[in-house]
Amino acid sequence: MEIYLDANATTPVMPEAQAAAQGAMADDFGNPSSVHSAGLRARALVDDTRAKARRVLGVDAGRLAFTSGATEAIQTAVLSALAAVRALRDGGAATPGLILFGATEHQAVPQAIAHWNALLGLDLETRIIPVRRDGRHDLGWLRRHAGDAALVCTMAANNETGVVSDLDGVAAALAGSPAHWLVDGVQALGKLPLRLGERHIDYACFSGHKLYAPKGIGLLYVREGAPFTPLIVGGGQEDRLRSGTENMAGIAALGAVFAALLERRGFQDAATLAACRDRLAAALVDAFPGLVFNAPLPLCLPTTLNFSVPGVGSGVLIDLFDAAEVRVSAGSACSAGKATPSAVLTAMGLPPAQAASAVRLSFGPRVDSAFIDEACARIRACGESLRDSALCPADARTPAPAEPLPGLVRFVADGACCYLLADAQTRRCVVIDPLPELAARLAGWITARRCTLAAVLDTHSHGDHRSAAAALRAAVPAAPLTPGSTDALGWPLGADALALGALRLTRLATPGHTADAVAYLLHDGPRLRWAFVGDTVLPGALGRSDFAQSAPLAFLDTLRGLERRVGRDALLLPGHDYHQRFATTLRHEIAAQPLLASALDGCIDAEGFARAKAALEQNLAPTAWCTVACGATVDPGGEPAVEVDGARLAGWLRQRPAALVVDVREPYERRLGTAGDLASRAAPLSQLIEVLPELLAAEPGRPVVFFCRSGNRSAQAARALRRLGRAEAWSMAGGLARWSATAAPACAATLGAAL
Ligand code: PLP
Repeated sequence: MEIYLDANATTPVMPEAQAAAQGAMADDFGNPSSVHSAGLRARALVDDTRAKARRVLGVDAGRLAFTSGATEAIQTAVLSALAAVRALRDGGAATPGLILFGATEHQAVPQAIAHWNALLGLDLETRIIPVRRDGRHDLGWLRRHAGDAALVCTMAANNETGVVSDLDGVAAALAGSPAHWLVDGVQALGKLPLRLGERHIDYACFSGHKLYAPKGIGLLYVREGAPFTPLIVGGGQEDRLRSGTENMAGIAALGAVFAALLERRGFQDAATLAACRDRLAAALVDAFPGLVFNAPLPLCLPTTLNFSVPGVGSGVLIDLFDAAEVRVSAGSACSAGKATPSAVLTAMGLPPAQAASAVRLSFGPRVDSAFIDEACARIRACGESLRDSALCPADARTPAPAEPLPGLVRFVADGACCYLLADAQTRRCVVIDPLPELAARLAGWITARRCTLAAVLDTHSHGDHRSAAAALRAAVPAAPLTPGSTDALGWPLGADALALGALRLTRLATPGHTADAVAYLLHDGPRLRWAFVGDTVLPGALGRSDFAQSAPLAFLDTLRGLERRVGRDALLLPGHDYHQRFATTLRHEIAAQPLLASALDGCIDAEGFARAKAALEQNLAPTAWCTVACGATVDPGGEPAVEVDGARLAGWLRQRPAALVVDVREPYERRLGTAGDLASRAAPLSQLIEVLPELLAAEPGRPVVFFCRSGNRSAQAARALRRLGRAEAWSMAGGLARWSATAAPACAATLGAAL
């Protein structure tokens, strides 16, 4: 059973609402503007839903219009308020100069404000009402600015955190203000008494799909006497508030939801909801040591929890929950695709790392106890699985993970890479370029696996962050590494090589990006396995050399020296990987980067090279994560289409040799979820580099097909393999989320027969 805990994004349509919509489509399908009986029945349905809406919202007076959703209602309200300002101004009256909106508003509000402010040529100054650390508006600030405000927008409850606004406090702060007041009531509907009529709210907006009605139906409330300008004109429906034939299925469904809400059929009261929320909160605290809630629970909707687990990214948690069939989201659904920290949590003053790792868990007011029981059990199972993989900061309960020790694990934060090398025999490990945000996770990983640290190395003195080497050494058992016995980058003084079981790590000076830069080379006997090149060569770029600590004139010799030492086909592991390429080789980079080609194949001299490089590095834009770009990317690598559908894969599984199907989910996900017998190989994305040579060497013509939960990580793996020269690399489109329901069983059966 799927445990859906993402109700603030959308809810399922409740059965009574489905039946009502079905009735409006099949039986009472008339047009409410028609004067015959079928039309009159439809009109009665619209009137009935509107009457119920009045009771739910607590308004006798004022106007209520059905819209396509809250976004449309917000547009209409903002247009109405600003068009009134424009009319006053055109008539020569003095008008207030400010538009104010809460710092944590849904994007629909600031976007609508910017749009209509510009389109109406008003050019009013927009200011953001700051919120306090608890997520509530700074009412003192609002009071100070309210006198010059034409429009003030505040939400009733926040979609990401669930923080409930102090609407009475806002109303008091607006006393005497000329401002029109818009309240986004989307997340409050059905969860809080809104008492719209008792407050001097001019406009309020609601959305059906957040409360068990279908998508495409919403509501706009307009206070009696508040100015109104329609957004959509035409047939004059909805008493000229909103033209266009009504969405009868949506209106009927919304009516059924309101009926159930008013009769409290299936809808829980606030105390019951809070008890459910508290049980979920307790399960989370139990499952994830160190978990912090990002907003004070007593100030939040009783149906929303927003939390972070220090050291564990929201992506990890979402994959983990999803593997246990628990659907949650990172921040808000609209920003889920972005790597940037949540703007809502940032506005509340949370540290970026905490704001970037936030997870939201939300349920609807028709929840029941059995659902919460199951959700709590799954949350606890998720916590156990994460602890078994030792990806939570280690605590006393952390057992040693069952899986064999991997040889190389890559950790990534905001495009920066950190590598952990481990030797299964001696359980010694080496960490290269530890990032501060990963220190707790690395320490947990090493401690839980009962490893000792042979060394913590940096490839250079980083300009963009502090190395976490000292923190890591202090946190985990270190082999004979006494303070002062290493150089500034962590290399043991006087040592030519570091032994890691049968493997040997040596270093090579690579001045350029910084004067002190080095590469670390890992040898297995005579064979070079990997070169950790820091920021000297990145996929699609050369490390920039315009920092104070750079040595630009040394860069050319460094590249030539690197080529002499490792050759053109050794796998280079970079310090930054902005486009998820995982590894590269000099041969690939020569083909992709003309400047590198001229360095290694041409006759450019050190000064000419430095000059050409400096030209590339002028005015480098920050990265997608708003961090300093460590090189001028001349080849972002492109995004070739790598998706393969079920029918094609089934064919590949029947051919000889059959497709190699690789599961790139992490062990903590595999433990919780099943993928049938689909995978012929498991290679978690964090350990992909270790199996790259094997995958690249698969029989020519044999498709290599990756899969994961959503198709995102498998596409990264497929593209990385393609870039390294294997054309037959693919990703299962849509991942298990789509496949498990449709093609996976058939493919698994085929695969079973093929193996
Ligand atoms: N306002 C808030 C607080 C929301 O959560 C949402 C939906 O995410 C919206 C507005 C937009 O609603 P709709 O999807 O109905 O346009």
